[in-house]
Amino acid sequence: MNRRYRKTIIAGNWKMNKTPSETKAFAEEFKALLPKTKWCDVVLCVPFVDLPAAVRGFKDSRVSVGAENLYFEKSGAFTGEVSADMLVDLDVKYVIIGHSERRQYFGETDVTVNKKVHTALEAGLSPIICVGESLEQREMGVTMELIALQVKSALAGVPAEQMRRCVIAYEPIWAIGTGKTATGDQAAEVCSFIRATIRSLYGARIARGVTIQYGGSMNPKNAAELLSHEDIDGGLIGGASLKPDQLMEIVHAANQD
Ligand code: PEP
Repeated sequence: MNRRYRKTIIAGNWKMNKTPSETKAFAEEFKALLPKTKWCDVVLCVPFVDLPAAVRGFKDSRVSVGAENLYFEKSGAFTGEVSADMLVDLDVKYVIIGHSERRQYFGETDVTVNKKVHTALEAGLSPIICVGESLEQREMGVTMELIALQVKSALAGVPAEQMRRCVIAYEPIWAIGTGKTATGDQAAEVCSFIRATIRSLYGARIARGVTIQYGGSMNPKNAAELLSHEDIDGGLIGGASLKPDQLMEIVHAANQD
């Protein structure tokens, strides 16, 4: 983390878990645990149907609410999809874009990710853009090339003044939901490379202000070590974000000196 230049953001990704009633209960429990000091930002990304309960539950707290996806068109005949304006109207602030599960199971590509990033930014949302390699790609030695391609494609056409609102999450696919975490050095190496890629596109001043998270089995035990690296500015957390006490332990880890 480097709090001097950029925000530390701990974000939960609930995936397809919890009902609206469970969301309400989670918010009550989590708010009661929130520390008084404000160093890191906390974001909870929840399923679409849970968004109203989450926004209500976290009103007047410093937890922001995010969606897990959106559609890139403004409106129209796209049955089952959700637009950026619908999210903004609910007071949603963040949206995860290009999570590996969406790339893997729902056919998202670098092209649709780029369209969604533009749609989110134009609507005033902050995109959390996910990038990451599979185990096969890591073993083939193409991680950095792949990450550069994903970052550059996601940000194609994004103007410098909108970069302030973009968050990048480095999520090695082999570490998501598997209990296998990248070592701090592995994660830091790729996060530094992502910052260097952004520097090559936007210059040093903008690059040093971008929040770059690590995601992949982050938990209360490994969070402090991962977050101790200069270029890891927070976490995108799946499994451990479903339990208020575990998520709060990670927030505490991000609040260390
Ligand atoms: C994720 O969903 O982005 C994630 C990192 O999940 P987990 O923490 O469960 O590996």
